[in-house]
Amino acid sequence: MEATDHLKASLGAAVALANTFGSEWRQGRPAAAPDVAAVLRLTTNRLVAADRSDFAAGGKKLYDALSCLPEGQVDKAVQIVNELLKATKAAPQLLRQKEDAPWHLHFGSTDEATGWLAEFATAVAMLLGSDDLERLRRCEATRCDDLFLDTTRSRTQRFCSTACQNRTKVAAHRARTA
Ligand SMILES: [Zn+2]
Repeated sequence: MEATDHLKASLGAAVALANTFGSEWRQGRPAAAPDVAAVLRLTTNRLVAADRSDFAAGGKKLYDALSCLPEGQVDKAVQIVNELLKATKAAPQLLRQKEDAPWHLHFGSTDEATGWLAEFATAVAMLLGSDDLERLRRCEATRCDDLFLDTTRSRTQRFCSTACQNRTKVAAHRARTA
């Protein structure tokens, strides 16, 4: 595992949490009930007793912050993330699950929602402080509010998923042949 892999996973989870609480439409459908456990599985193998309501406000803040980036409003994003870092008392700490398990760098207690939010806010903060911040995009498909990280080398990804890409293609084809 590379030194930055854990943080990459946390950033992925942060974007997923943001979409879970911030998107009204996801891949053509109204957003389903937030599934926090599914989000946390992106970054931990542990079973976390996650109470959805503890993540709602932080998840919405992350969505607000990340939503600023495709619009080029980096300063506004920074302000929201700084507030979240302060509120969650994000502080780096090496933790492990049991004695011979590998150490992981966390930014708050992994037993509490605020600990996870601290970690996600830190991952987003590191994105904001890097050249990669333009990789954060909003899906261009209709009826999809999801944000995503463009992982293509050419940085040309326009959709959050192949589902949205295909939907858009089909709609364009229908419009042409109608
Ligand atoms: Zn989409």
